[in-house]
Parts: sequence; C-alpha cells; structure tokens
Amino acid sequence: MSNPHDLHCHSTYSDGQLSPDELLARAVGAGVGMLSITDHDTIEAYSQISSVPAELALIPGIEFSTTWGSKGVHILGLGIDVDSPVLEAAVASQAMARQQRAEEIGQKLEKHGIKNAFENSLRLSAGQAPGRVHFARHLVEVQVVANMREAFKKYLGDGKAGDVRQHWAPLDQIIEWIRQAGGIAVLAHPLKYQMTRTRLRRFLAEFIEYGGQGMEVISGKQQPFETSDMARLSTEFGLLASCGSDFHEPGRLWAELGRYEPLPQRCEPVWSRFQPHKAESNTSTMPLR
Ligand code: MN
Ligand code: MN
Ligand code: MN
Repeated sequence: MSNPHDLHCHSTYSDGQLSPDELLARAVGAGVGMLSITDHDTIEAYSQISSVPAELALIPGIEFSTTWGSKGVHILGLGIDVDSPVLEAAVASQAMARQQRAEEIGQKLEKHGIKNAFENSLRLSAGQAPGRVHFARHLVEVQVVANMREAFKKYLGDGKAGDVRQHWAPLDQIIEWIRQAGGIAVLAHPLKYQMTRTRLRRFLAEFIEYGGQGMEVISGKQQPFETSDMARLSTEFGLLASCGSDFHEPGRLWAELGRYEPLPQRCEPVWSRFQPHKAESNTSTMPLR
C-alpha cells in the first residue's frame, strides 16, 4: 500500500531525524513523486537543500501551530512561496512565541529548584526554542526524574509547573499568512485532536470562513473507515483533500513516507491547485532561496 503523494513530513530543522537531503532521497526510494517538507513553524529546510532529484516535485510547505479554544491545532501551508516577506515575518513571530513560552517554563522549573533548565533544554532542541519534550529529556538527563513519563507526571504534564500556555498566533492570522504567501491552508491530521464531530464541524466552518481551503484526509497509516469518513467530510465542506505521512524518523511504521492508501476517488486533491513546475531552467532543481 503506497501513495506517490506525501505532503507532510519533518526534517532536522524541526523535530525530524533526517536532514532535508536525506528526506528527499528517502522519498524517491519510497516511490514518492511529490513531497512537501512541513517543519513546525519553520521553512529553514528549504534553504538547506543541495538539489532536488529530477523525479521528485518538491512543494514548499510548513506546519503552523495555533490554538482554537483551548485546543492546540496544526495548520499546513502548502505551495507557499518560501521567499515571501510575509512568511518570513510569520516564522519570526512564531519563533518569538515559542521562545517566550520556553523561557516561562524555564522560570517555573527554576522555582522548583531546577536551575538553568531553559539553557540546557535548548541544547536538545536543534535550534528551535525547546518544547516540553526537550525539557523532559533534560530532566531525565540530569536524573531529576527517572524517565520521560515521570518528567511529565511531576513537572510538565497538564496542571504541573511546566504546563504553560502557548502564545501562538490565532487561527485567522495563520490562515492569512499562508494565503498571503501564496499557499493553501490545510488542516493537519483532523482525527488527532479528539474533537467531537460537532466540534470538528464547527472548527471546519470557522476555518473555511477565515480562508482555509483543505484538510488532510489521510495522515499516515489509518483505518479504511477513518479515510472514508474524512473523505466524506472534505467533500461535504468543499475542502481540497491532502495526504501525508507526518514522517519524523525511520522505524515508525505507521508514519513512513508514502506508506498509506491512495486518496478516495471522490476527493479533489489539493495538488490540483498547485502551479505546474516551471521548466524555465535546465537544471532539475526547483527555484529555492
Ligand atoms: Mn512533530
Ligand atoms: Mn502536527
Ligand atoms: Mn507534523
């Protein structure tokens, strides 16, 4: 079971384990012909690619974090212009939000007697400001706790010291940024939020009102009934359908590049809206910044 379209994966520039070049090579090996690297709140990967294999169409993308009510929600921007000044400002704003929250977590942990948690977690987070997982790894490293589970149970889980509110830009702002950067806003992995159907419908209505145009119908390996359910929802709301693995690292078999079924026939694929690859240069690389 494989799919030649994978529009959701992560590189070392967010929380993935492969470099952008390694990702492209792995995609080709997996029979993927269209790939988007969608790192969390950054497009740094696109300036680090040495060349795009001729058999691969690379669609510039990003995965933005936001909140809707008290829920964390992820919005993909697909087909964005990575040189867009709007996008550059958006990425800087999200980085600031990430940084503020990380510093707050650090301060809270300091009050619990854990010194320099922010600085130390920063080392473990590959350039982006650390998130709770990185703080947890640090706590394990310095043996304040025995394992990740204990780190969350005692310090970082809901209601604990490190449970600090996110400062992400709101949903309407995120969608506006994506549109201004020439991209299509796509709701990532709708089934992961564990929203009731009523709430998910309310979300989609609002998402569309703000200019959202697509949703992931397939996110990695999932049950056939889930796929047909999401396909039905996408056609009902007139949303473009996307699919992706949410690949982070080799070895997770339910999230491997292109390793899932094709989109159902009834869906209108999001790639029907992408500009055809411009053949203006005689190299195989897409214009990158
Ligand atoms: Mn991730
Ligand atoms: Mn996500
Ligand atoms: Mn993701």
